[in-house]
Amino acid sequence: CGIVGYVGNGNTRDMLIDSLSMLEYRGYDSAGLALACPDAMKVIKTTEMISKLKEIVPSSIYACSGIGHTRWATHGKPSDVNAHPHQDCTHRIAVAHNGIIENYQELKEKLIRNGHRFVSETDTEVIAHLIEEHYEGDTMAAILETVRKLTGSFALLIVNEDEPEKLFAVKKDSPLVIGIGEGQYFVASDSTAFAKHTKQVLYLKDGDIGIITKSGVYISDFNGIRVVRTPQVMEWNT
Ligand code: GLU
Repeated sequence: CGIVGYVGNGNTRDMLIDSLSMLEYRGYDSAGLALACPDAMKVIKTTEMISKLKEIVPSSIYACSGIGHTRWATHGKPSDVNAHPHQDCTHRIAVAHNGIIENYQELKEKLIRNGHRFVSETDTEVIAHLIEEHYEGDTMAAILETVRKLTGSFALLIVNEDEPEKLFAVKKDSPLVIGIGEGQYFVASDSTAFAKHTKQVLYLKDGDIGIITKSGVYISDFNGIRVVRTPQVMEWNT
């Protein structure tokens, strides 16, 4: 029901948990985080409140980038295993998703025939396995191949421990907005998640993929062609 992402000089764990708490009002049945470090991906999930994440995610944990999710189940019951982020078989890649993948069943059957092992009942898990299937060292190239195969609605945040300094954001028929800070970037389904840190925002449009690092944002369409989106200043008072 809500997604958040962070890359920058701040404490990734704290930023993500705080952003998720700001989205708590939207309702959810479970929540989770993925923290990407060089050669290590840590994924932590709970069916309890966001505050539980504070207890179970060590505060000392360092991460270059990370993603978080509050889930409102559409496919698969609320449970730890079905909570996001979801991962591929190698556990290198993590995906948080808002929306519904309409053709997940046929994609899943094909992936299973190709040797992928699924752990959840969600529609989302196919995305992680599809990225793995197409991954040959270039995450963006694998994401481009993947999104072209998906039908339905999806706001996605993706991290890969092989490129932990990059956060990938994909938008199609679900909201996604980037928050531009100093040496740090936020992404969320709703700007409330990061409003206390920055008022400078960049709204992604349907069919956009953003590659976000702590020093900038690069946006392309689903064909990999660069597009330009202009940042705006949020005008509401908090
Ligand atoms: N369809 C996905 C699921 O059931 C995402 C739900 C959401 O947007 O929270 O896990």
